[in-house]
Amino acid sequence: MSAEAGPLRDAHGRALTDLRVSVTDRCNFRCRYCMPAEGMRWLERSDLLTFEEITRLVRIFAELGVTHVRLTGGEPLARRDFPELVRMLRGIEGIEDLALTTNGYLLKRYADALVEAGIDRVNVSVDSLARDRFHEITRRDALPQVLEGLAAIARHERVRPIKVNAVAMRDFTEDEVWRFCELARSSDYQVRFIEFMPLDGDRSWSPEAVLTGAELRALIETRHPLVELPREPHATARVFRFADGPGEIGFINPVSEPFCADCNRLRLTAEGRLRTCLFSLRETDLREPLRAGASDEELAELIRAAAWRKELKHRVNEPGFVPPPRTMSAIGG
Ligand code: SAM
Ligand code: SF4
Repeated sequence: MSAEAGPLRDAHGRALTDLRVSVTDRCNFRCRYCMPAEGMRWLERSDLLTFEEITRLVRIFAELGVTHVRLTGGEPLARRDFPELVRMLRGIEGIEDLALTTNGYLLKRYADALVEAGIDRVNVSVDSLARDRFHEITRRDALPQVLEGLAAIARHERVRPIKVNAVAMRDFTEDEVWRFCELARSSDYQVRFIEFMPLDGDRSWSPEAVLTGAELRALIETRHPLVELPREPHATARVFRFADGPGEIGFINPVSEPFCADCNRLRLTAEGRLRTCLFSLRETDLREPLRAGASDEELAELIRAAAWRKELKHRVNEPGFVPPPRTMSAIGG
């Protein structure tokens, strides 16, 4: 079998309908699980896809059946005129869901413009609800500003659901759990814990540092019984409601419970490389042919062929696992 015309599929029978687009590798934070404190080497501006190039590629992906697009980075709001990109992508036929993942630092400033431009959903990454511990993990004293950003986007009722994502790390997140439960119970934000993956810039990840979703859930259930909600197709999170009151909490368990069999995702890096897995060791350059004058059909062919080769699964838990040379901020999480 080989890649055929029609919607994007891989050789394992999965339809690929979800595209994560990184718009920059730069960031105003230095989260410990993502970037080193110093010494990151950034892409040159001319290396980045322009908004027009991103829009053209996303239109081709949409013609190939992609319906969901999430903008990420680096920190997407750190890219100049970012709401303009949202507006351009909003105009593409076939994109049913246009979402953003942000650290929230600039969200207060851009919330209204993002909604006006047509953003559907926003995820905000918050790893601690205590100011000093937030500072410790992100290396920025920015919790108040992030919470203001979260409140600014939440004022727009059509941007729902709003998800708050926390990376779960052993010997850190255990002490955050009750504050996050309180947030989930007192707001309509869906709080989700993400297992720490070996994509950090410091290369300090170890299996022992992963605080699993099952461990966190057991800890939460010592106080608040949880009831699992039906899993939506392709959902990465297992979502629960509190049995004793309102609120939802989710667990994204890529390390302890890989969800590769149901994965429908592709990723486009800020410099235009197509990745078929977070942990891919190979990439397909779309920028070079695009800048050399390739037609839409030629680019679609390259995309189809790369999608077809999507990895069956990641191998984080297998002996001899090799982490990709790129770390999370350079891939687009
Ligand atoms: N800067 C934005 C943010 O932080 O939301 C978007 C990019 S960030 C790379 C996307 C997501 O990846 C964030 O929720 C972040 O917490 C998560 N992330 C980064 N490094 C990670 C790692 N090593 N393991 C698990 N999640 C990670
Ligand atoms: Fe920046 Fe997001 Fe990485 Fe934190 S997780 S350093 S906010 S890209």
